[in-house]
Amino acid sequence: MIDYELSSDLAATREQLHMVAKHAMRPIARDYDEREHETPWDFINMMWQLSKNSGVGPGRESRDRTEPRMEERNLRTCIAVEELSWGDAGLYLAMAGPGLGGAAVMAAGTPEQKERFLSRFKGDKPVWSAMAITEPAAGSDSAAIQTTAVRDGDHWVLNGTKIFCTSGLMAGDPSKSNGFVVVWATVDRSAGRAGIKSFIVDAGTPGMTVAKCEDKMGIRASDTAMLVFEDCRIPLDHILGSPDVPKTSEGFKGVMATFDATRPIVAASAIGVGRAALDFLREELTRQNIPIRYGMAVHNLSVIERDFMDMEANLQAARLLTWRAAWMMDRGQKNNLEASMAKAKAGLVVTQVTQKAVEILGPLGYSRDTLLEKWMRDAKINDIFEGTQQINMLIIARRILGYSSKELS
Ligand SMILES: Cc1cc2nc3c(=O)[nH]c(=O)nc-3n(C[C@H](O)[C@H](O)[C@H](O)COP(=O)(O)OP(=O)(O)OC[C@H]3O[C@@H](n4cnc5c(N)ncnc54)[C@H](O)[C@@H]3O)c2cc1C
Repeated sequence: MIDYELSSDLAATREQLHMVAKHAMRPIARDYDEREHETPWDFINMMWQLSKNSGVGPGRESRDRTEPRMEERNLRTCIAVEELSWGDAGLYLAMAGPGLGGAAVMAAGTPEQKERFLSRFKGDKPVWSAMAITEPAAGSDSAAIQTTAVRDGDHWVLNGTKIFCTSGLMAGDPSKSNGFVVVWATVDRSAGRAGIKSFIVDAGTPGMTVAKCEDKMGIRASDTAMLVFEDCRIPLDHILGSPDVPKTSEGFKGVMATFDATRPIVAASAIGVGRAALDFLREELTRQNIPIRYGMAVHNLSVIERDFMDMEANLQAARLLTWRAAWMMDRGQKNNLEASMAKAKAGLVVTQVTQKAVEILGPLGYSRDTLLEKWMRDAKINDIFEGTQQINMLIIARRILGYSSKELS
């Protein structure tokens, strides 16, 4: 049965996070946008405690409250992420927690590995994890990665360079946290996709260096790092899932399954940013006595009314796609198509909505006196990471038409 009504618990979580977004994130959003490489420690610590004590926050488990019902875990995360991203997407991404690395452990790890690696997030100090896939010569085509993992006795030895790794600094630098980075590497280049596995590298492992932090256009409160691996030795049981190289690319499908969990979350973040822009636009239009009249015939609407309603409808469509993808995941259903649909739609909508809001408000939208221009900059990343717009459209086409990645690339 489909139920569009949020449970009272979920609605309360959303309300609580909205207050956090409004009162703890918005006031510092501009500041950390201007000071890109400074860590918002007060905010991070406050959110860690809040998450631990009340169970609110994306991907965190509560000690003190009843565990969230498993069947709404992903939906809950999406709702939390939309609210926090309405506050500020960069600050949301800067928060400690299992994040993308944790999602990879959930998707590809054994039950024992899930327990071992994810229990770190129950401690008193903030902990980060990150996921390092992208390389200088491998972005969209993640099967082309060059980083190698070679078995040497009781260890894997990793060599290679990873770029644009979200939270790479906070997860990889031991002075920041007791975190870890999930690194994609090939154990057998001749096997192509089938040889690609994911490995857990603990912060501070000799041979892993945080080489650089990027200067970015948007989400500037979140660190994005280059990580270099030089003869980096990790224990054998730090490979996620089985070390066997299958004859087919089934193993690669296992690591790719991470995206089925993370794409709806990115979509939810995009919707939060788009909603921030739309709410701001609504307030400004009201202040300027420009009405948005619902229920009129289309030919009687002003251009601004029509634009506004289009923006609103598109955001709502993206949200419904996102909730469906999360809802399916919560029920253990295959959601590869739906996750890409949500991500593609939300990534596109947020760039259009934020640009249109700037356009309609003109100088007010372009000025740094308000956050609207920042939301326009923050929006674009949703069309790039976790699969670009084009790559998600490709996946959708493959799934609908029944083509393999070889047949449609
Ligand atoms: C702020 C930020 C944070 C990031 N965080 C992470 C992270 O945490 N972990 C991580 O591993 N990576 C991360 N990335 C990297 C991101 O996932 C890649 O940038 C993305 O996958 C695209 O890869 P690329 O940059 O190499 O572009 P390319 O793959 O070179 O693509 C360039 C352009 O060509 C298009 N294109 C490519 N192939 C096709 C095709 N077959 N058909 C049609 N169009 C195509 C793309 O859509 C894109 O528009 C991050 C990037 C940024 C900017």
